[in-house]
Amino acid sequence: MKIIEIVQKHQPITGNDIADRLGCTKPTIRADLSLLTRSGILDAKPNVGYILNHKPADNPHDFSLFRAKVKDVKSPAVYVEEECSIHDAIVKIFLKDAGTIFVVNANGYLSGVVSRKDFLKSIMGNMNIHNVPVGVIMTRMPNIIHTHDEETVLQAAMKIMEHKIDSMPVVEEVGNNLYKITGRISKTTISKVFVEIGKNSGEWGVGSEE
Ligand code: ADP
Repeated sequence: MKIIEIVQKHQPITGNDIADRLGCTKPTIRADLSLLTRSGILDAKPNVGYILNHKPADNPHDFSLFRAKVKDVKSPAVYVEEECSIHDAIVKIFLKDAGTIFVVNANGYLSGVVSRKDFLKSIMGNMNIHNVPVGVIMTRMPNIIHTHDEETVLQAAMKIMEHKIDSMPVVEEVGNNLYKITGRISKTTISKVFVEIGKNSGEWGVGSEE
């Protein structure tokens, strides 16, 4: 974000000048500059420097990392009630082709998350998957990492990386620690956005077969 601010104020500006203003050396920010140009946020003009790459605001494929919001890319949530058996939750995971399943309590509020490995553990531990409800094996609130519509995809991706999880429920807060699930964001979602950014970066075709 600091690099973008600097470029916005002083463009065109060289990589060395950006580094000077940040109080570091150019190699330190090389990876950041590369990400910002590849994602289409900055343009690198040879012998001139970096400028902000203004795309039309109404571009429907504007998947810039800093603008795309969770609400633009979320997919439908897959969830079951706490009383649902482990067996039936696994069936739902297959039917909906999901990796993680969210759990809601009797009032319909988010209460937990069950991952593929949670299911595997329950089976390896010889649990009776027909009788034991998912509520017994789920990771519970308030320890559920979640996101909301207005967060950027980048912020959501950072949470997924930081907490080493595969997916997060997208929620709407309806009371103190009470959340309604409105969708999900997974590593697959983030990969799709990454591909969109790559395709729209102006370098599509470089190094690819197409
Ligand atoms: P897997 O266990 O299949 O590798 P994850 O890495 O997503 O999948 O899950 C690791 C652990 O973190 C599991 O115990 C799971 O219940 C928990 N978990 C998954 N998603 C979340 C989340 N959004 N918030 C909190 N815990 C989660």
